[in-house]
Amino acid sequence: ERKKLSKLKKTPAVTKDGVEITLLANIELPQDTQAALDAGAVGIGLFRSEFLFMGSAGHNHRLPTEDEQFESYRQAVAAMKGRPVTIRTLDIGADKPISAADETALNPALGLRAIRYCLAEPQMFMSQLRAILRASAYGPVKLLVPMLAHAHEIDQTLTMIEQAKAQLREAGKKFDPLIPVGAMIEVPAAALTLPLFAQRMDFLSIGTNDLIQYTLAVDRVDHEVAHLYNPIHPAILYLLSSTIAIGAKANIPVSVCGEMAGDIKLTRLLLGMGLKEFSMHPAQLLSVKQEILNSDLSVITPRTRKILRLMEPAAIAEAVAGLRAA
Ligand code: PEP
Ligand code: MG
Repeated sequence: ERKKLSKLKKTPAVTKDGVEITLLANIELPQDTQAALDAGAVGIGLFRSEFLFMGSAGHNHRLPTEDEQFESYRQAVAAMKGRPVTIRTLDIGADKPISAADETALNPALGLRAIRYCLAEPQMFMSQLRAILRASAYGPVKLLVPMLAHAHEIDQTLTMIEQAKAQLREAGKKFDPLIPVGAMIEVPAAALTLPLFAQRMDFLSIGTNDLIQYTLAVDRVDHEVAHLYNPIHPAILYLLSSTIAIGAKANIPVSVCGEMAGDIKLTRLLLGMGLKEFSMHPAQLLSVKQEILNSDLSVITPRTRKILRLMEPAAIAEAVAGLRAA
């Protein structure tokens, strides 16, 4: 089975009815690009930069410098040989603590995490932005911002990116002045106010791991409530399908980079919603590709539309399973 899948490495991900799908990989460290390439990923859809910080924080709590970060990002960009690399800015806090404060926060998932933390630590954030921008001189880089929920957070972030560019210009350092900037859609408020994001951003990436956590009020790492963590809850399907549809209407690329994108049981459901870009752990990529090669959008799309009108969990589960037999 593994061997059969590996034959698909160079096969383009195209549905039976000829629709091209983009399959990207999620990575945590620059050296993970090898696994991404081995799986035939056409780019990196999510480079979780916080792992660079989590490794070096350790006992001495030293954050990587701008130059050290630049070196890591450049390494990933070079390894991908012209394929796009989407670097997400620091997404620490909650399930990814880097400081003692993260562990003592009353409610870490709702606290000063991700972009909130970055906007509160502008020096640190600016050095990361400069490092990412500098890497964009070596190949196509996209900049992805986690946990945005408010218009003023988007505006502040974009202003800081422009400031980082100005600083680099002043210092005579090269970068891509047209670097695409995107938002993670992972807070329900963002999904429900999508036009704010579509107007300001170049692309969107749905983080289903957090979107499920926040929509269902289920801690994603708490085993006691794991049975309530349901990716096909009708509320989740609504937020996913509306984000994909509004993005398409606004002509702005939308991907899914949460675990749902790598779950072959959900591939057809996402295709049926109109999703064209999936980013996942490299280990899932060829199985998802196989599912895509066997899918016919003209059959799946109307069936998915019907699923989106269902409310009863059992009926939804049955209909989603039925898509795989379509
Ligand atoms: C997500 O929330 O779905 C996501 C992709 O990011 P992370 O798992 O790193 O929070
Ligand atoms: Mg997330």
